[in-house]
Amino acid sequence: MKQLVLLGGGHAHLAVLADLAARPLTGWQVTLVTPYRRQIYSGMLPGWVAGHYALDQCAIALDALAARAGVRLQTTACTGLDLAGQTVDCADGTRLPFDRLSIDTGPVAAVQQMPGAADHALCVRPIEGFAAAWPALAARMAAQPGGFDLAVLGTGAGGIELALAMHHRALAAGWPPLRITLVGADALPLAGFADGVRQRLTQQLRARGIAWRGGQRARAVEAGRLLFDQGAPLPFDACLLATGAAAPAWPRAAGLATDAQGFIPITRSLQSTSHPQVLAAGDVAAYADARPRSGVFAVRAGPVLARNLRALCEGRVPEDWTPQARALYLLALGGQRATAVWGPWSWTGDWVWRWKDGIDQRFVARYGSDATHHPNDRHPQ
Ligand SMILES: Cc1cc2nc3c(=O)[nH]c(=O)nc-3n(C[C@H](O)[C@H](O)[C@H](O)COP(=O)(O)OP(=O)(O)OC[C@H]3O[C@@H](n4cnc5c(N)ncnc54)[C@H](O)[C@@H]3O)c2cc1C
Repeated sequence: MKQLVLLGGGHAHLAVLADLAARPLTGWQVTLVTPYRRQIYSGMLPGWVAGHYALDQCAIALDALAARAGVRLQTTACTGLDLAGQTVDCADGTRLPFDRLSIDTGPVAAVQQMPGAADHALCVRPIEGFAAAWPALAARMAAQPGGFDLAVLGTGAGGIELALAMHHRALAAGWPPLRITLVGADALPLAGFADGVRQRLTQQLRARGIAWRGGQRARAVEAGRLLFDQGAPLPFDACLLATGAAAPAWPRAAGLATDAQGFIPITRSLQSTSHPQVLAAGDVAAYADARPRSGVFAVRAGPVLARNLRALCEGRVPEDWTPQARALYLLALGGQRATAVWGPWSWTGDWVWRWKDGIDQRFVARYGSDATHHPNDRHPQ
């Protein structure tokens, strides 16, 4: 039997697994390599932190989805590739042969780029690590009588949503004051978004008393303080690292073509520019038509990846894909309010939250939540 190996249970691979569940790939054994048997959906993570959801409602049961698809689950991480020998090396010592390989392992935390972060900051990625650490951090915030100082490094959608979620949780639960400072190198948060949107979001932060320390490049994290290129250090009780996505090291080490940052450049058919038997999608890939690294594009790539993997396995020509130019972003604001962003336009309200909540819950339900498949395996809220 020929071997198709899927690395990572990311957004694009969810569509591949659903496609295989609907229609098996005759003559191929498919293996999913994933360090965790579930995929926590990042779009709902801030809602869990804010207290709106239980964690198992935000997680997709990869094991159940793989079982429905007839896909073998290898619960470990890929650590390296032998492209000439067509094998994948895994952290558990397994070596998996492949005829076709698909990579959707997402980004890694940019810890290497921030000295001291690995020791003194809590990283948002891997999300499982963050989810495991958050209950203890929340308990510290709740128990510190004089209030708690939180520094949030990185001001993309993830960092802002998590800061707003923590702020909401502290207020709703009646914790001592939670003083949050968002730190970013740009003049305004949400780099890559239109100026007007960035200004409106800055106002939302200000209205909640969340401080914005922009235009300053953080240099290092030490125990209890953040150091900058210029200006006074920022003392903190905890530091959250939510800076932009970095690439894993193993694709470049294996000799796969990578761009200057280490991401995998792919053609319009999602094939590696150096190894056409390898496909990639999501944040680990650098699309032929450059797009921001975001869940929206990882989700959009899913059905194309499913069709192209099937085509290549069946000896047909894969299709070309041009991602849409603009994506809708729905940003949770802590309480049950959200902001919708479409290019230069944005709308804020309770109705946006209800809209986002509906989209997110349907997304998780489409693939099967942990709450449905593992109801006795509850996680702390
Ligand atoms: C708090 C937060 C909020 C966000 N909100 C939004 C939003 O509102 N809109 C938006 O568009 N984007 C948002 N993002 C960004 C979004 O999460 C990412 O762009 C998206 O997750 C990328 O999807 P992906 O499929 O590339 O990877 P991922 O979703 O990260 O999935 C990758 C999977 O691969 C696994 N994996 C990792 N390494 C390996 C390995 N070596 N071997 C095997 N498996 C591996 C991981 O465990 C994971 O399951 C948010 C991010 C965060 C952190």
